[in-house]
Amino acid sequence: MKIAVVGTGYVGLVTGTCLSEIGHTVTCIDIDQNKINKMREGISPIYEPGLDELMKKNIMENRLFFTTDHNEGFDNKDVIYIAVGTPEKEDGSANLSFVEQVAIDIATHIKKDVIVVTKSTVPVGTNDWIKEVILNNLVNDVKVEIVSNPEFLREGSAIYDSFNGDRIVVGAENEETADIIEEINKPFGIPVFKTDIRSAEMIKYAANAFLATKISFINEISNICEKVGANVEDVANGMGQDNRIGSQFLNAGIGYGGSCFPKDTKALVQIAGNVDYEFELLKGVIRVNQKQQEVLLRKLEQKFDNLKGRKVAVLGLAFKPNTDDMREAASIVITQYLVEKGANVVAYDPVAMENAKQILDSKVVYAASTIDALKEADVVLILTEWNEFKDLDLETFVKYMKQPVIFDGRNCFEPNNVKKHHVEYHSMGRPSIN
Ligand code: NAD
Repeated sequence: MKIAVVGTGYVGLVTGTCLSEIGHTVTCIDIDQNKINKMREGISPIYEPGLDELMKKNIMENRLFFTTDHNEGFDNKDVIYIAVGTPEKEDGSANLSFVEQVAIDIATHIKKDVIVVTKSTVPVGTNDWIKEVILNNLVNDVKVEIVSNPEFLREGSAIYDSFNGDRIVVGAENEETADIIEEINKPFGIPVFKTDIRSAEMIKYAANAFLATKISFINEISNICEKVGANVEDVANGMGQDNRIGSQFLNAGIGYGGSCFPKDTKALVQIAGNVDYEFELLKGVIRVNQKQQEVLLRKLEQKFDNLKGRKVAVLGLAFKPNTDDMREAASIVITQYLVEKGANVVAYDPVAMENAKQILDSKVVYAASTIDALKEADVVLILTEWNEFKDLDLETFVKYMKQPVIFDGRNCFEPNNVKKHHVEYHSMGRPSIN
């Protein structure tokens, strides 16, 4: 198949590259000329394990192309994927202006019948609207079919997920179109779940809202564990062994972040509100998540009534490990608080520091390594559970810090191991160790 993918962010670039890897000829289109120039050389503008190698391979084998030119990008394509961002508006609803622009670009450039597949996460009913926008702006006499094909990949393991996902959801207007999209995806060997367009759109929001609910649920249990002297990790293990519950997404910590859960949960509250339904449970999930970073900060305040002039090492800035994505990362709120309290914040993240520099307060200093950050620090906060941090020998904290006081927002260390070292250790939902 000849495919165009519009938008080369975390979803579009991975989708385009993986579709080329399974044999399709793919042209990725973006409005950002700098990104396109880099990608033509096989350099990914985002950090995603394995992506550069896969891009280079498919560029060499003439299956993967990049352009900013819509004429070139849409020329002779059978299928066009929309993978542009749908960020949050101030009222929490999804901003569809990028999607609308792509719909207009499609309408004004296509010269043959195409199937338009929406990968971007869009509110229920948006695909009908996309079709309307395209049909209202069509320049040539061609047929357009629309498909909702929401994306479930996780940043940090996006390539793996594309080849090993649990299911591919295809919401189509008719069986014939759904079959074509199924056929395109066949080499991935992942089960395809076919449904109508609106249900497909809802599946994406419902899935993300459910995962966010699991996280906020275990975080509330964690907060109660702290007060009753239980260990949330054991509680989560004991719960998760029940197959009806499952063990995933039951890690207590400082809450979810990233480009999806925060915005998608808020958008679903809006989607419900638009049809006069108050999604009370999800509103609670969002509130719990917003409060969770404060749990760590309150603990820090109990230890230090004054942070002014203290060196605070921050390990981990990205919203989760194996990505450079800083969108809605817990580190944003936490470092801001530390800077406001007059702390000298020295941060280190294996890959997200360049992005962090655009977002975090200019007073944050960036270290060259974990050890560099820890040197002479009064306290360390662990905000992202990178393996690099989880694998640290706890003696490193003893050796380099002024005093080895650890506030672990992601429960990176085993309490039984911590007890063997002379460190002060506070984590989430587990008894502190002095
Ligand atoms: P992103 O912000 O990383 O990338 C969007 C890209 O679209 C950018 O490169 C931007 O330059 C480009 N773009 C914007 N307008 C354009 C236009 N008119 N023509 C061509 N390119 C244009 O976004 P993302 O994280 O890849 O997310 C894309 C969509 O996928 C969102 O709806 C998101 O909710 C959804 N999603 C994201 C993830 C994830 O983990 N990031 C997972 C599942 C679903």
